[in-house]
Amino acid sequence: MTTINLEHIVKKYGDGFPAINDVSLDIKDGEFVILVGPSGSGKSTLLRMIVGLEDITSGDLMINDKRVNDLAPRDRNLAMVFQNYALYPHLSVFENIAFPLRLQKGKHSEAEIKSKVEDAAGMLELTEHLDRKPGNLSGGQRQRVAMGRAIVRDADAFLFDEPLSNLDAKLRGQMRTEIARMQRRLGITTVYVTHDQTEAMTLGDKVAVLKRGVLQQIASPRELYEQP
Ligand code: ADP
Ligand code: ADP
Repeated sequence: MTTINLEHIVKKYGDGFPAINDVSLDIKDGEFVILVGPSGSGKSTLLRMIVGLEDITSGDLMINDKRVNDLAPRDRNLAMVFQNYALYPHLSVFENIAFPLRLQKGKHSEAEIKSKVEDAAGMLELTEHLDRKPGNLSGGQRQRVAMGRAIVRDADAFLFDEPLSNLDAKLRGQMRTEIARMQRRLGITTVYVTHDQTEAMTLGDKVAVLKRGVLQQIASPRELYEQP
């Protein structure tokens, strides 16, 4: 059960025009919100503030009704998936997925780790590839490993930063279907940044449009794209 509320969030880098300018947005439990907007409109900045990789200049960021502005990323329990997958080349697929569990030292038994990794791998059709190294995988498979790593943690929410933009069109289509299925199955609150209109139309419950740091509109994909 996870809600994320942005209340009058402002982000200034140095003295310039704010990268994010008074954005308020309520994300409900289990909701899948797509964030779109031109390059430089502040999408990454917003996502990075939610995960805690970027300081918030002013405003309140609430996760489950608790103000988390000053909470370190590791204490927010959110899983972020980037477009460059950041896998460990010398580790097997199994160990790449298990990595966040091993970081939580002593919290999980070996049997627990095995069962969690195998569950995630099953969901992502990686079962047959668990012993391979990332270097031998296709782009889509690597992206799935990155998602597996996000899933095993039992994170409170997923944050995606253009996760499919490095894939070719066919793989993108497949992965889109998989992400939609996985999100529905897990029912996990998700914020997804993209500049791909198909992703924006098909993946989310809501589309939020950012322009020059300002939230222009928030609507269902239908309302946004199917109006005459
Ligand atoms: P408050 O001032 O009470 O913090 P806002 O009026 O800024 O709230 O926004 C209330 C909610 O309306 C937001 O959390 C968001 O979900 C939605 N919202 C914000 N901006 C827009 C917009 N430009 N268009 C449509 N909905 C918006
Ligand atoms: P988007 O993800 O929509 O492309 P960004 O969040 O990356 O947008 O950038 C929003 C604005 O903030 C841009 O004007 C960008 O130049 C600026 N910006 C982003 N990161 C930094 C930074 N680390 N230092 C200074 N300015 C930045």
